[in-house]
Amino acid sequence: MLAGMSERAIEVTGLRKSYGSFEAVHGIDLRVDRGQVFALLGPNGAGKTTTVEILEGHRSRTAGEVSVLGHDPGKGERSFKERVGIVLQETGVEQYLTVREVIDLYRSYYPSPRPTGEVISVVGLDEKAEAQVRTLSGGQQRRLDVAVGLAGDPELLFLDEPTTGFDPGARRNAWKMVDNLKSLGKTVFLTTHYMDEAQHLADRVAIISDGLIVAEGTPADLGGRSQSKTVISFHLSPDAPRPPNSLRGRASNDEFAIETDEPIRILHDLTGWALDSGADLEGLTVSRPSLEDVYLELAGGDATTEETG
Ligand code: ATP
Repeated sequence: MLAGMSERAIEVTGLRKSYGSFEAVHGIDLRVDRGQVFALLGPNGAGKTTTVEILEGHRSRTAGEVSVLGHDPGKGERSFKERVGIVLQETGVEQYLTVREVIDLYRSYYPSPRPTGEVISVVGLDEKAEAQVRTLSGGQQRRLDVAVGLAGDPELLFLDEPTTGFDPGARRNAWKMVDNLKSLGKTVFLTTHYMDEAQHLADRVAIISDGLIVAEGTPADLGGRSQSKTVISFHLSPDAPRPPNSLRGRASNDEFAIETDEPIRILHDLTGWALDSGADLEGLTVSRPSLEDVYLELAGGDATTEETG
């Protein structure tokens, strides 16, 4: 098979990075398939930026094998740089150019760039195409940064914390943009410390904590690996019959919560009892362990959640 033509976009084995005597990344393995959105999720200081910058070819590694689109990013080959798009945490584009002029400028650096109008549309800046960069909001500037990363029509796009500091509306727009990238068939490697972002966007998630990958899988797989149990909760009016002890769980006044590893059997028994006894299970809910539970268990209480409205 030709170099760079495999199904794998990124393959990392035993990656280590030391800064002096401090080892920030302790030998991690990662695999990302083409066309996937992959999220590296972890708290501040876990090693996300170190890892992503090694994959981009912006930082050297101390040890390990790294293949990105069949290239070793450490070699700094021009043919590699033309195939990847990079959106750094902080970028600075020319403030007095218009959005369209910025994209045209960056397109001119690449052999087969994507059409300007398309790049602007993917990031949702059509209405701002003729506006000067200095007039854009923070979220719009960030989307322009992504557009710059897309100008060369890369196969793989790196997004380092694409929504940090965004308000909920701007985050929704950024998520839509990542969905658009996915529908163009791009591979996206993103870092984030927002669990809901990883859960919403990613096909696969790796959780990094203190320089080690502590869990990896689809968001659903990871939720299923939580030590937390499924919780079935409901409310009974004061005059309703009470369930048998096996179906009471934790009861407080008229609120009931059953923690279980066997939600299907419990639901079957519970709804059977309710039908037989004529009790109305008001507000019946079943909550499964989420990626957040796994993250809190593994990354140790330093997780960030955000209301997304
Ligand atoms: P954040 O979410 O805050 O951006 P991160 O997961 O991206 O965090 P890194 O920036 O990769 O984390 O940092 C990992 C560890 O390596 C941290 O302890 C950090 O202080 C350290 N580190 C990062 N860059 C350097 C550097 N150039 N020199 C020395 N130590 C560094």
